[in-house]
Amino acid sequence: AKGDGRGAYRFFEATMDVWAQERRALEIDLRSALRNDELKLFFQPLIGAKGHEITGFEALLRWQHPRRGLVGPDDFIECAEQWGLICKIGEWVLHEACRQAAAWPAPLKVAVNLSPNQFAAGDLVDQVRTALRESGLEPSRLELEITEGLLLRDTAGTLDQLRALKDLGVRIAMDDFGTGYSSLAYLWRFPFDKIKIDRTFVAEMSGNPAIADILRTITLLGRTLNLEVTAEGVETAEQASILEDMRCDHFQGYLFGRPMPIADIPGYLLENMAQ
Ligand code: C2E
Ligand code: CA
Ligand code: CA
Ligand code: CA
Repeated sequence: AKGDGRGAYRFFEATMDVWAQERRALEIDLRSALRNDELKLFFQPLIGAKGHEITGFEALLRWQHPRRGLVGPDDFIECAEQWGLICKIGEWVLHEACRQAAAWPAPLKVAVNLSPNQFAAGDLVDQVRTALRESGLEPSRLELEITEGLLLRDTAGTLDQLRALKDLGVRIAMDDFGTGYSSLAYLWRFPFDKIKIDRTFVAEMSGNPAIADILRTITLLGRTLNLEVTAEGVETAEQASILEDMRCDHFQGYLFGRPMPIADIPGYLLENMAQ
């Protein structure tokens, strides 16, 4: 048994080694990804719940890795945060998203995800101002998505920055609503325009009356606080119709369109905006 234990430990050590090397390799690659033009934005359509019209797109980051292929954000954003790379990457995302959106027909909006680290860095407001100026995008067409994690950390600094962003004329959305430590106090203390209901609720809604009740309550809360409500992860027509009855304002999900590369957007608009 003793031998087994040592063997297991050696195996563990070796595994940790491989894992550490993997991470190190990823870090080195990620450091050069921006420079090598390997980061791409995909765009997923946002849809009005009543008329099913396109209201904009959310920018979602992808890494076109030379050997690993297309890597999704869940596999590298956290690393980028840990390694202090997210601010540079986030700045690129802001500029690229605004630049793309400026070419779309108004009033289509673009939504951009922000990491809490971008607030900690202190120059976020300047970055947003610069991205708007350089792209010429109307500020009201930019929506910034933040998560509850940011509000938990804080501090007066966050509120000041959110207010400064609002003063630029951009919109603020609370992302993944309901998954974190959602304190209702955040909703009125911070200047939100919209809440996005996490897709785990939408996925569970049909088979689970309690979840449906929660969703109904969230949409009512949104109306009460004068916030728009987006439902994420809408995959079926049945979900869309239930959520429409609950008076959600916007949908996002595979039913209406998957995240697509920039090159596909003109075709998607042509096909789906035709009256
Ligand atoms: P998120 O902001 O909640 O984005 C929505 C995620 O749900 C996207 O995953 C999208 O592809 C996926 N999704 C959309 N519709 C459906 C659906 O109908 N069914 C299912 N099963 N999934 C759906 P993605 O692109 O892998 O992004 C994951 C997360 O990575 C995002 O979650 C966001 O938190 C983060 N992220 C993406 N881009 C950025 C970025 O530029 N900066 C930062 N800081 N985070 C980003
Ligand atoms: Ca988001
Ligand atoms: Ca979300
Ligand atoms: Ca999410």
